[in-house]
Amino acid sequence: MGTAENRMEQSVIDNYFPGVIKVGMPLAAFSLKNNIIPFRNHFLALVAANYANHIIFGFTLGDTTKDKDYVFKSQVEGVLNYFSTDTQKVLIQGPFVIDLPFKHLTKTELVALYLEKDHPASYLLTNSFSCYEGLHKPCGICRSCLRKYVALELNGIDTSGHWLNNPVDHLLAFLEESVTKNRGFEINDIQKCINLKQP
Ligand SMILES: [Zn+2]
Repeated sequence: MGTAENRMEQSVIDNYFPGVIKVGMPLAAFSLKNNIIPFRNHFLALVAANYANHIIFGFTLGDTTKDKDYVFKSQVEGVLNYFSTDTQKVLIQGPFVIDLPFKHLTKTELVALYLEKDHPASYLLTNSFSCYEGLHKPCGICRSCLRKYVALELNGIDTSGHWLNNPVDHLLAFLEESVTKNRGFEINDIQKCINLKQP
């Protein structure tokens, strides 16, 4: 999409998931100051529908943008299934299904599930990239970094040395922002992480 974090994501994908098909779609041109790209996941779903009729998104319970919920799922399925009734005008035949297998879990619960299945904790630091800044190391300040920090630390994974700035110093502001913006499901986890990190 051409966002700063995409450059890092791209190299991670190339290194660890070489079979993945990547499609260029320069949506960063529409990016807002808060890093939201309006309708981003609509675009992704429509592109994915040219490859398969079973589309999976990794949205979590804490995601609050409206293109990451069950209404989004059913409406986009509706668009895909309506359009594809003209079977001569689509590359992939329907019916189309969009699955959100992690939508009932917070990031913290998702990390716990990952660890329960005996996957290495270190991969969560080396093989995933979330920071909006796209620098050589995650900034430790942006919302994306703080969500990752909370999920990892609450699962007992030591992330010290991983960040450009220490996320601990930004947790209170993150909590206040999350309360103000009513990001319900993540507030408890942020509070727990603050309690855990109190000297
Ligand atoms: Zn960051």
